[in-house]
This record gives sequence, C-alpha cells and structure tokens, in this order.
Amino acid sequence: MAYKPTIGLEIHAELKINSKMFCSCKNDPNEKRPNFNICPICAGHPGTLPVANEEAIKRVIKTGLALNCKIAEDSKFDRKNYFYPDLPKGYQISQYDQPLCSGGYLEVDGKKIRITRIHLEEDTGSLVHPDGADYSLVNLNRAGVPLMELVTEPDITSGKQAREFAQELQMILKYLGVSDADMEKGLMRVEVNISVSKTSKLGTKVEIKNLNSFRVVEKSVDFEIKRQTELLDAGEKIVQETRGWHDKKEITFSQREKEEAHDYRYFPEPDLPPLHFEKEYIEKIKSEIPELPGQKRERFAKEYGLDESSVEIFVTNKDLSEYYEKVVSEFEEWTPEDDNHKKASKLVANYLISDIKGLLAGKEFVEKEFKITPENFAEFIKMIYKNEISSKVAKMVLTDMFNTGVDPSTIVDENNLRQMTDDSELEKIIKEVISKNKKPAEDYKFGKQNALQFLAGQVMAQTRGTANPVKVSELLNKLLN
Ligand SMILES: [Zn+2]
Repeated sequence: MAYKPTIGLEIHAELKINSKMFCSCKNDPNEKRPNFNICPICAGHPGTLPVANEEAIKRVIKTGLALNCKIAEDSKFDRKNYFYPDLPKGYQISQYDQPLCSGGYLEVDGKKIRITRIHLEEDTGSLVHPDGADYSLVNLNRAGVPLMELVTEPDITSGKQAREFAQELQMILKYLGVSDADMEKGLMRVEVNISVSKTSKLGTKVEIKNLNSFRVVEKSVDFEIKRQTELLDAGEKIVQETRGWHDKKEITFSQREKEEAHDYRYFPEPDLPPLHFEKEYIEKIKSEIPELPGQKRERFAKEYGLDESSVEIFVTNKDLSEYYEKVVSEFEEWTPEDDNHKKASKLVANYLISDIKGLLAGKEFVEKEFKITPENFAEFIKMIYKNEISSKVAKMVLTDMFNTGVDPSTIVDENNLRQMTDDSELEKIIKEVISKNKKPAEDYKFGKQNALQFLAGQVMAQTRGTANPVKVSELLNKLLN
C-alpha cells in the first residue's frame, strides 16, 4: 500500500499599496537605497504609535471574499513577540485568534482546496549578507509593509496540485489588483507543510521554506514525498524539521530541527483599536470584485467557443484577453448570427495566439506597446473571412501591420494584394506557367504528384500569393488533363 501525502500551504503576499501598514512611509519593493523609506514607527522607536492602513484591510477582505471566505464581523491586531535582527520592535503586529477571513476555498483542477484563514500583518525588514564579509546588514525598507498570510487546510496531495494552487492564487491576486505577487521578487512566498502516512493518522510534518518559484514548489514537494516514503520504507523515522530547497542539486536539505512550538506570547495590540465591520461595508467591497479567472474561463469557452488551451492563454494574459474582446466587439454588428460570430472569434483567437505570438518573439503582449489598433485587427480578420486576401497574403499583411501600425486595406491596396477573383485572368497565368515549365507538366502527366505542387508554387509566386490555392489546384488539374 502506498503512502498518502498530506500537504498544506502557507502563502505570504505583499500588498500593492503605496504606503506601509502602520505608518505613512512609502511601500516600494523596487527601492534600491537601503533604509530609505523608513520612519520612527517602522524602525521601531519606543513611544511611537501605529495607525492601521484601511486600504490594506479592505484588500485582504476583498481577497477573502474572492476566495469564498467568511469575513469576521469583529477582528483585531495582536502582538507576536520574538527577536530577530530585522524586527527592531521585538514583536510583529499580526493577527492571532480573530483573522479578517476564515473558512474559504479555492478550486484547483476540479478539486476544492479549503482555506483555513487569511490574515493581515506587517512584513519584517531584510538582512543583507555581503559576499565575503563577516557581518550582515539590516535594511528596513520592507519593515512594516502590509503582508497578507493565507493558510490552507492539508487538502493538497501532490506537487502539481501545490503548484496549481499557488498559480491560481497568484492570478486571483493580480486580477483583484491587491498584489503583484511576483515570486522572483519575493512579493509572494510559499511555504509547504508535508507529511506522508499509510493510515488515517497523520505522519510527522516537515516544513519546506523559501520556495521562490512555481517550479520549485512542485519539485520540492515531489522530492519530499519520495524522501519521506523511502525513509519510512527503510524503517527509519521522519524528523520534524524545517528544510530548504537546493536548486542545483534539486533536493531538500535540513535547515533546523523544530524545537517545541514557539511561544510567541500573543496578546492584543494595545495601541490599535479593535476592528468592527458593518454588513454594508463588506457588501461595498464585494461589489468591487472584478471578473475572476474561474468566471473568465467559463465565459470565454461559452461565448467564443474556444478550446481549453486557448482559453487558458487568455485567462493568464489579462492584457491580451482585453485586447481580444475589443477586437471581437468590433464586429459585433457585422456578424450578428451566433455561428458566424463564433467562427470569426475563433479566427481572431488563432491569429493572436499563433501569429502575433510568433511576431512578439517571446515578449509578452502589452497593449499599449502594440501598434495594431483593435479596429484595424478586426478589419484584417474581416478581409480573411470574406476571402479578400489569401492566408498567405494575410501573414504578410499582419507582419506589416505589426511593424508599422498601418491599416490593412492600405497595405493590401498599395501592394495590390487582394485575392484574385477573375478566373480567366488566373487561367491565363496558369497556361503561361505550364508552357514555361514543360518538364514538370510532363512529369505530372506521368504521375508525379509533387510536380503539381511545384507548378502550383510557381502560380502562387506569379500572383504574389493573391491566387486562391484551392482554385489554383483545380485549374491546374483541369488544364493538365
Ligand atoms: Zn515608517
């Protein structure tokens, strides 16, 4: 019988708000000058008084509502006492027994992962360890930055699920605009609690800290499941400890053994009043929640008839999906019938996902840097849809539009690229091609199929791609037989 993994996550995200949690210092994760955005409050001088940042409270409530949590009617801040060199006060203002949000869930891959709680606290400063130096430096720019902590129930059972949860949460935080949640920049940090067991009794829990990418979340969990399983199979015991991830060796390693649970001596923060939220206040925040990734997935599949992978590309790239919808709305009147509308919508999606992605060459789509207006893009799609340009010409036109921002009809007219509609004209060109290429024409008559492709290629070249390829092969067949 296999061991069953039990995994819970603790995720911290720095809120995207201009000022810190309890003072008016600037919250700027990109500030390079050390100890630049600090004041006596976030530097922990005695006798200073904190004032809670209401916007931060609102954003955590908003996140809780988006994640199906219950919002506390009454809440408060507590002091969590411990000593760290990057925490000059000697305690962190956090929330203990009355978190802002509790009891929600997030659906990942059809499975509900329950959320225990989401609370609000302040971030600590950071320590800098200069290369080769025998000292460390303290930078308090981050001290007092509003930090949200989310804790899940141990409902996750694989590295993949852990990664997907973190990814989906990141997307939601971005959609809500509450956090940039960039893992590389440390704006979102994931910790994993993991144990394995064959029985309903949970195994010894190991904590993995400092995971700074989705890939590492998945890999470290899978590694740890394997490590614990092998140890137990060999008759050994799991040590309760905190482990880190070694990215080069792709292993977890012991950082410190867990002493008994810390006694943080939590007590209510005496310098901050308790919080009370009226129903109307919560409702108001609820009404400001935008469409979330899950809703968008459903809507894009239903409204535009797109397949799952196309939908996902749009859901993960907000700018691209907004642009897409602008283009589609451009021909709302032009293709009122549902069927045509879906067909045209799919065509737009295909060109955006494959051709534009190719032209962007690895760069992310950013609408304000994109030269093609939604109107021009819609016009371009109409031309393809109405067979005014061939798919080969379409690629040339699109590249031109991408580079210059010029509208498609100007490009098509100036270069005389409209699809040939005159069959007699095309027949004339084909006859010429046949007479100039006697050998391949003969070869074809003796059964060489690729000779036909060669001749078709010559015709397309003669017409600069404006001939309809289906027509070309029809006429070639007629004239050669
Ligand atoms: Zn400050």
